[in-house]
Amino acid sequence: MKIAVIGSGIAGLSASWYLGKEHEVSLLEKHPLVGMDAHGTDLFSNGHSIRVDVPFRAFKRNYYPCLLDLYQEAGIEVRPVDYSFSLNYGDGTTYFGFSTLGIGGNFVPIPYWVCFSNKTSRRIFSDAIRFYEESEKELQSLDGEQLTISQFLSRFGYSVEFEDLYLIPMFSTINTCTSESAKNYPADAVIGYHSSGLKFLRFLTPEKGTRDVTEKLSKRASSIRLSTDPKKIVLEKDKVKLIFDNGEELFDRVVVAAPANQAISILPDEYSREKVLLSKLKYETSEVVVHSDEKFMPKHKRHWAPMCFSLSQDSSTATATILLNKVLPSMKGKAVFQTWNPLVEPSEKDFISRSKFERPVIDLASRKILEELKELQELPDRKVWLCGSYARYGIPLLEAGVSTSLDVKRWVEGSLRS
Ligand SMILES: Cc1cc2nc3c(=O)[nH]c(=O)nc-3n(C[C@H](O)[C@H](O)[C@H](O)COP(=O)(O)OP(=O)(O)OC[C@H]3O[C@@H](n4cnc5c(N)ncnc54)[C@H](O)[C@@H]3O)c2cc1C
Repeated sequence: MKIAVIGSGIAGLSASWYLGKEHEVSLLEKHPLVGMDAHGTDLFSNGHSIRVDVPFRAFKRNYYPCLLDLYQEAGIEVRPVDYSFSLNYGDGTTYFGFSTLGIGGNFVPIPYWVCFSNKTSRRIFSDAIRFYEESEKELQSLDGEQLTISQFLSRFGYSVEFEDLYLIPMFSTINTCTSESAKNYPADAVIGYHSSGLKFLRFLTPEKGTRDVTEKLSKRASSIRLSTDPKKIVLEKDKVKLIFDNGEELFDRVVVAAPANQAISILPDEYSREKVLLSKLKYETSEVVVHSDEKFMPKHKRHWAPMCFSLSQDSSTATATILLNKVLPSMKGKAVFQTWNPLVEPSEKDFISRSKFERPVIDLASRKILEELKELQELPDRKVWLCGSYARYGIPLLEAGVSTSLDVKRWVEGSLRS
């Protein structure tokens, strides 16, 4: 079978890995580099060239079963990463945070003294412990009632300090969305992620970075065509035709692993219902800047955690800065940072790179949209399917990209049997 996979983020790469075992897969990517690695940047540190992943991605052992299985199958080694964090006001004063103690490959959190030194921080600390311990049970007691995370927190009496100075700043920057969108995330999606182990900060990252991931996952593709973007998919009797600027090509099956908002225009005319559903999914844009400007960091160096969250001056929005020297063992010498959702510009002399991203934002309406999309994808006699981190209800992370490509693998194989 000749299969085209459009898009080479984690969803397209994993679809290509699974389908490439038995089929002739062409991986098509509009960027000049494989999508998952398209924004990485090369730096010189201590006389060596280091590839810095943009964004730097990490995952937790117990929230990413599909990703971890895939990485193991493809021989991608992973290592624990210290993802301890500090939370800081706009003036750089730290009000919350953890350092870590490495034990047996895990990083056990040790709260900063400041967590106990004032009423606000103590309130956050006790609500955080309660949230990690109790929120799953509290969620179950809702008996299926759907609440946003903000509604959930007020229903169960969590403090405003916990919501506005802890959970929402962290969640909005990790998900690169506005504070308002973070508050509107479904409670079950947020709790599903946080209750699965943030307590012990069991984060992992690929040992050799994203380039190793893209090289290994694209191995089974018969061809990788970069700077290639089909403009339209046309259903033929037994085949699917891809129309490019400079020609057309027939395939037996097509997997669309482009983001929902970019997939709409290329889908076949017959997929009108899918297009309506995809257009209902919301996206927000965000920026990631790599730099060496220390003004993004907390006032005191002892609070320079691997991940430092900072509030805006009016505390309504937040930004996150990764201290790359703490998460990349090869990064020595001068401190280099990666800031997500920057609120100010780094100075010109400290600027290294800037990348723009679009990210899906999930809310209470998303569940029904995604259920309906899945039902359509399961209909018989299809030759074109969609996958991507947006396509699974929950938080749009790497795990969702892989798990939806596993669905597609099943549907493609089912279509060959019928
Ligand atoms: C700042 C930031 C930090 C993040 N951190 C983490 C993290 O720590 N852990 C985690 O699990 N997740 C993280 N994520 C989320 C994760 O990166 C995404 O969920 C994941 O990359 C999405 O993968 P995807 O394959 O669904 O989509 P994408 O990565 O968007 O891939 C889609 C690809 O399709 C290509 N494309 C689009 N249209 C066409 C076309 N017509 N023809 C050919 N190609 C096309 C695009 O160029 C792109 O390469 C982070 C995201 C951001 C922005």
